[in-house]
Amino acid sequence: KMLEKAKEIEKKVDSFLCITEDVAIEQAKKVDKKIANGEKVSSLAGIPIAIKDNICTEGIKTTCASRMLENFIPPYNATVVEKLNKSGTVLIGKTNMDEFAMGSSTETSAFKKTKNPWDLNKVPGGSSGGSASSVAAGQVFCSLGSDTGGSVRQPAALTGIVGLKPTYGRVSRYGLIAFGSSLDQVGIFTKDVYDCALVLKEIAGKDDMDGTSSPIEVPDYTKFLDGNVKGIKIGIPKEYFAQGIDEDVKKAVLAGVEQLKELGAIVKEISLPHTKYAVATYYIIAPSEASSNLARFDGIRYGYRTKEFDSLDDLYIKSRSEGFGEEVKRRIVIGTYALSSGYYDAYYKKALQVRTLIKQDFEKAFEDVDVIIAPTVPNVAFNFGEKNQDPLSMYMEDVCTIPANMAGVPAISIPCGFKNSLPIGMQIIGKHFDEATVLKVAHAYE
Ligand code: GLN
Repeated sequence: KMLEKAKEIEKKVDSFLCITEDVAIEQAKKVDKKIANGEKVSSLAGIPIAIKDNICTEGIKTTCASRMLENFIPPYNATVVEKLNKSGTVLIGKTNMDEFAMGSSTETSAFKKTKNPWDLNKVPGGSSGGSASSVAAGQVFCSLGSDTGGSVRQPAALTGIVGLKPTYGRVSRYGLIAFGSSLDQVGIFTKDVYDCALVLKEIAGKDDMDGTSSPIEVPDYTKFLDGNVKGIKIGIPKEYFAQGIDEDVKKAVLAGVEQLKELGAIVKEISLPHTKYAVATYYIIAPSEASSNLARFDGIRYGYRTKEFDSLDDLYIKSRSEGFGEEVKRRIVIGTYALSSGYYDAYYKKALQVRTLIKQDFEKAFEDVDVIIAPTVPNVAFNFGEKNQDPLSMYMEDVCTIPANMAGVPAISIPCGFKNSLPIGMQIIGKHFDEATVLKVAHAYE
């Protein structure tokens, strides 16, 4: 039934690159059988989910919304997919995204445009736009995305749902096709905070296949959702309420903070002084890592290979020129430039130094407060075509989300109001590996 409903809604929103009908039926039957046999099943058993198309699914196409990987069928599952399979979730499909997760509107997908369910003329955000709209439109109860600079939180905000980027290292990246390896984290979309807590518990934890995953114990996050925020200290960073952030967005977020204050939270203004350098720093570090990660797509080992060529060099050049889209090429060029021997010190090394300062801003702030609250995005959902001709205005979509990736700290976006009938997102940022407090505060507000 969910499958039929998902297919019906799909005609309007285009969340999916492929609907995995056979897999869904097979997985659902398995759960039914277990229940019929009286076996114990997890609380996620039978739940329809969707997975972003840059997360590897064994035997199911994983394209990164790129011509380059149009026919790529991974021979293995990402760890997060393996874990969800074990809990008995039912995969409805793989979701649309910006090509290789580069973008903030899902418009750089080589295959289709995903619409925002609140207004079909608006973008759903990105890069995990398909994952966000599949949950917002009610096609699935939960979806996974990836967040390198805001790609889970920004689309969650623009589609009025919950989107969590866990601490760097909390969730295994094995099988997530790499963009910026030091920033990437698998994230979760759900309609409410409780569901998010359930799913995080299921997918988090140490994985021997990912050396950056952490052995820190995974608590039962639902236990923290008691509505009690008495004495919890909330920091309001003045830099996130400065110029460039829409007045209505600021008002809605501050009204949310007021509500938490009424519940007993303590609110204080703080400063994260290096915030203004975050976007510039990100657009050195992320493309640098991307240029290296994407070097493997050479037309030989994986993916698209050009039809006619005269030499090996010609094969590389043509395959990559034809296989990658505009935005991906722009990032590769920026990245290789920033890493080239004459410019490394001036750009890449500088960016790493500034990244450390941004990280220290958070460390200092968290000596005084338990969570930080800010807008997720400067404004609400925008029209198709409005920003995709102007990369800089698109890059500014992530001013409020990028710092958390730089510092590796967890952050969630939850809905906190509307402007012109479009949802606004409130962001709650926490200490390293303290998803519990982030979820607790988010739940108390909700
Ligand atoms: N919009 C940002 C970018 O284009 C972030 C993308 C992401 O988090 N994957 O790089």
